[in-house]
Amino acid sequence: MGTATKQHTETPADALVRMLQQLQPVEVETVPASSAWGRVLAEPVRADRDNPPASVSAMDGYAVRLADLNAPTLPVCGEVAIGHEPLVLPAGHALRIFTGGCIPAGCEAVIRREDVRELGSAIELRVSPQAIRPGDNIRYQGENAKAGQQVLAAGRQIDAAVASALAAFGVSRPRVFRRVRVGLLITGDELLPPERQPQPWQLRDSNGWTLQSMLSTVPWIELIRCMRAVDALPAISSSLDQLLSRCDAVFITGGVSMGDHDYVPAAVRDLGCRVVFRKLPIRPGKPLLGAVGPQGQAVLGLPGNPVSVAVTARRFGVPVLRVLAGFSTAEPPRPVVRLNEEDRDAIKLWWYRPVCLDSDGTARCVPNMGSGDLAATARSDGFVEIAPGQSNFDSLPFWPWSI
Ligand code: AMP
Ligand code: MG
Repeated sequence: MGTATKQHTETPADALVRMLQQLQPVEVETVPASSAWGRVLAEPVRADRDNPPASVSAMDGYAVRLADLNAPTLPVCGEVAIGHEPLVLPAGHALRIFTGGCIPAGCEAVIRREDVRELGSAIELRVSPQAIRPGDNIRYQGENAKAGQQVLAAGRQIDAAVASALAAFGVSRPRVFRRVRVGLLITGDELLPPERQPQPWQLRDSNGWTLQSMLSTVPWIELIRCMRAVDALPAISSSLDQLLSRCDAVFITGGVSMGDHDYVPAAVRDLGCRVVFRKLPIRPGKPLLGAVGPQGQAVLGLPGNPVSVAVTARRFGVPVLRVLAGFSTAEPPRPVVRLNEEDRDAIKLWWYRPVCLDSDGTARCVPNMGSGDLAATARSDGFVEIAPGQSNFDSLPFWPWSI
């Protein structure tokens, strides 16, 4: 089936998947852990030893044998020093122990400190001896992971929880995907850099900053360059060519529609990129173009309206970058929100509506004037997706602006 035919039946999500299937993750590198925060694991992580490596106490308290608990008091014969090899628990005695201390040989349970009366050199139970069960307050060697077991799969981002596992299993130089190199190309004769003073017929380029702010602080992205080009085929082609030679992905803004001065589709084709989709049934951002470059680069042509750029970059661009980055999923588990909105106007397109989140998990639409209304969008937290004709707003997928 040709692309043109598909456009009528395909959902935007399906079109995106078709593009994602044509992309390969970037190469792998080995980096010191201190440079790996936020990067994507390229290899599974295995336990190099049992975790916990020895049986340890889960509480501050007393290490005991169960048979000794029927005596009225139990003498305390010493203390388990943390970070030292296990002791032996003499029969008829208790050893004071702290969280993480190695369980002494012979010990069957740890009694919590709050469950005893401390009498100086002995303890007396505050609870019935029958309430103490074998294994109470003991974390057994290997109960979290056995040596050799896979603990983490490739494709996970090194967040705080993953970093903890890397440290515990001695992965001081993880194998990670290198950063995805991204280039930006902002097109439009009417645009000036934001720091310049425009004439009334000129605009400050806001799309460049939208994309830079969305992408430049992401640890698995390397923003290579943001170029600007006037609305002329040679200018756009030459900038795109330069970016394609250095980048894994190029996002272009403006010039992608059907106007006489929209040269992006021609430039993309002239440089040997394969168009995957052109036009999606979405609002805003309908003229969105997705293509794959000759070396497998992802190319997205984002319609220039500021809201279209923000929405399409977040909704379509980020999954594209995640696949290039080696993530196991194109999107993290996405929150859904209930939209508090009286206006149930249904449209025949997939509709992205900027919303503010309320603290109870509901969202409110930000009243706006359409895809050029960046002032209203600036007050939103992200956007929801409403399917064509959908009037039940109880559970809508939500994308925050930040990645
Ligand atoms: P285009 O997709 O090039 O037809 O642009 C659509 C609309 O978005 C026009 O009104 C442009 O002036 C505006 N626009 C395009 N690029 C930008 C930009 N970088 N910053 C602000 N507005 C833009
Ligand atoms: Mg333009």
